[in-house]
Amino acid sequence: AGTGVVGLIGHPVGHSKSPEMMNRAFRACGLPFVYLAFDVSPSELGDAVRGMRALGFRGWNVTIPHKVAVLEHLDEVEETAREIGAVNTVVAQEGRLIGYNTDGEGYLRSLVDETGLELSEQRVLILGAGGAARAVAHALATTGVESITIANRTREKAERLAASLRKADARAVSLSELERVVGETTLLVQTTSVGMYPETEAIPIDPSFLHERMIVSDLIYRPRKTLLLREAEARGARIHGGLGMLLHQAALAFEHWMGKPAPVDVMREALEEAMKSAGGG
Ligand code: NDP
Repeated sequence: AGTGVVGLIGHPVGHSKSPEMMNRAFRACGLPFVYLAFDVSPSELGDAVRGMRALGFRGWNVTIPHKVAVLEHLDEVEETAREIGAVNTVVAQEGRLIGYNTDGEGYLRSLVDETGLELSEQRVLILGAGGAARAVAHALATTGVESITIANRTREKAERLAASLRKADARAVSLSELERVVGETTLLVQTTSVGMYPETEAIPIDPSFLHERMIVSDLIYRPRKTLLLREAEARGARIHGGLGMLLHQAALAFEHWMGKPAPVDVMREALEEAMKSAGGG
């Protein structure tokens, strides 16, 4: 009885939209839970996890910079999260802490929802090879896409990611080879932090590489379209922004904790309101 607690640990967490989304969802479903954001510095991660376990939290989300480091504090890590090497959702189940990663599946739900894409026909180019790229690449690799090409500033990371995608036809290329690859690309997924606030006029690819036969998908979420998406639109490409991924990874976390479907429309509304009032590019 009483109020159940779930939350978020990250550093910083001040701009997170998750409390708005989750608390609105709990209210809409009449669930006696509250979602709180906790700023936890890396040196305090272990103490924070032990504290949440001792206090009987139902679970929590994990964001930058703890998504990798949290693994060693958990009792079990589900297969997808293990493959990605990062956890964004923890569930406390009968005293055991189980790690999941809902970022990749959240991305797929958003992409299919908003674009209706036939994934099996896609020749994918992923820009970046960080945590978000790993989640998206592993998720796409399970869908039977035609091919996945990965380009990253640090080439070895792209190579490691491509090699780990055993379920797909995957390869890494250097940034200097992009011009050759883009012609056949049907889905470009931008996963780098280039273009994030406050450097909103930065763009991670030569805009002349964008064309009308591709969908351009940018994981960055901002109230306004990123420069990449504006350039893509101007060249006749279809576009897909990062807000849907944020929404669906949260909905999937809700489902892990509550064991029932999330009220996605209520959460979307809360997220859109929170984005509007946030301003900031
Ligand atoms: P990481 O730090 O793990 O990875 C960052 C990536 O960006 C790396 O590939 C890095 O390349 C590249 N990068 C950074 N700066 C530059 C630069 N100046 N030039 C070229 N490449 C650069 O971050 P995440 O993967 O966790 O997040 C990346 C982005 O995705 C962020 O903008 C984040 O907001 C967004 N995101 C969105 C989500 C959503 O729900 N919509 C979910 C998760 C993330 P290198 O390896 O060479 O350093």
